[in-house]
Amino acid sequence: MSWAKERLNKIREWKNPYENFIDDEKINAVLQKTQKPSQEAVLSVIEKAKSNALKGNMLTPEETAVLLNTTDDALWEEIFEAAAYIKEEVYGNRIVLFSPLYISNPCVNNCSYCGFKSSNKGMQKITLDMQGLEKEIESLLDAGQKRLIAVYGEHPKSDASYIAQSVKTIYGVKKDKSEIRRVNINAAPMFEDEYRLIKQEGIGTYQVFQETYHKATYEKVHPKGTLKGEYEWRLFALHRALNAGLDDVAVGVLFGLYDYRYEILAMLHHAMDLEKVFNIGPHTMSFPRIKLTLNSDTNASAYAVSDKDIVKIAAVIRLMCPFTGTILTAREDSCVRDEMLKKCGISQMDAGTNIGIGGYSENNDGNNLSKQQFAIGDHRSIDNFILSLIKEGRLPSFCTSCYREGRTGCNFMPLAKHATIKYLCIPNGILTFKEYIRDYASSEVKEIGESVIIPKYLKMLQENLPQVAGTVEKMISSLDEGKNDCHI
Ligand code: SAM
Ligand code: SF4
Repeated sequence: MSWAKERLNKIREWKNPYENFIDDEKINAVLQKTQKPSQEAVLSVIEKAKSNALKGNMLTPEETAVLLNTTDDALWEEIFEAAAYIKEEVYGNRIVLFSPLYISNPCVNNCSYCGFKSSNKGMQKITLDMQGLEKEIESLLDAGQKRLIAVYGEHPKSDASYIAQSVKTIYGVKKDKSEIRRVNINAAPMFEDEYRLIKQEGIGTYQVFQETYHKATYEKVHPKGTLKGEYEWRLFALHRALNAGLDDVAVGVLFGLYDYRYEILAMLHHAMDLEKVFNIGPHTMSFPRIKLTLNSDTNASAYAVSDKDIVKIAAVIRLMCPFTGTILTAREDSCVRDEMLKKCGISQMDAGTNIGIGGYSENNDGNNLSKQQFAIGDHRSIDNFILSLIKEGRLPSFCTSCYREGRTGCNFMPLAKHATIKYLCIPNGILTFKEYIRDYASSEVKEIGESVIIPKYLKMLQENLPQVAGTVEKMISSLDEGKNDCHI
């Protein structure tokens, strides 16, 4: 029997111990009931979301639906302002930088929207061996990167033991005393023993996007008889992961498959259920939009999301779950990303992105569709992207300290929920940006970083947390003397 067939049988034998949390009728009723909300209703939800930022509460589905049904442009501006406010309250004005690293693209599934689908014969199928992977890591380290999300197709070549081995290899690469300090994972749903195997290698956040929570649509785009065709198996992937002891999990929707209003409410129900069952909400939420792929019909959907709507989607998610990080990837064009950065309270972004398998070390043009899952829109290098951030007064951060200091899962959540995490984010942001300036920055980034950004955020600490400011100043001196990896 083939690997996929055997696995499918095993998946179908899995007994789901959890209660279903997606109820179409309930979601549709809430969306219906909140049509054309009054100005007063929208403003009151905005105020509630702002106060939630300090209390660690999420909006209810009904409150979120009020925002989603807002039609007045002036009220949308209020929502965007609130999104920026909440982000600043919880995390401070820092943007955490990461790189996606595509390690293996063979896939046994046949998702209609994806360049890696098994029927896509034009795609070069590549699984990096450990030497090829080390070369990729060296290139990423040369650019200054410290955090990754490693991405895999679902295939016997990239099973749980390969994933574990690749994570171990990544952490093992040292170059000029630098190293990758956090490896997050985006990989297909697993069994609990497989989760325990990858946990042993010290993975950071485990990310699975449901793609669409709408079961009928899910079944249309993920053919029956494939592993991905098993809706429930995927819906409870993160429940199994938390139950197996993974600390941080992340949710996401692939926007463009179904009505975005429905999807956001469904993602909220997912977050609420993780909270209810494990007392740990999602560490991050992602909102990728379907992008062009080789040999895929990616534009035909009646639910395609416009540039205007993706900004609204990200802003509502920020208000809906104030304590959850939000990830905006280089799928989007640079001008869309710049606008979303201002209006949506984004907390994490990738930069210098190349999603071709082996793409960082080959240094190709960044859009070779026969080697990558989809086209990306933002091709700025890490340094150029940092320059754009600091010109806006933001603090670029390569921080990985929570994860390494044991601030994960239920140790992390209270810090984010009570908006005290910023007192760690800002110091660690300063220190990791300082290390970047010392080792990798262009002269322009160095100049603005040293004379404007670091003094600005240090001053903020001196005024609010003088003791922490003192510690950070000492650590900056240590970095100047050649010490690495200073964090609190
Ligand atoms: N194979 C694993 C799985 O299915 O969970 C990893 C997923 S895939 C390599 C990473 C994510 O890319 C998917 O979950 C999906 O949301 C997103 N994706 C797939 N096709 C896309 C496209 N055409 N445009 C943008 N994002 C896409
Ligand atoms: Fe994230 Fe923690 Fe670092 Fe803040 S200190 S940026 S929360 S990892």
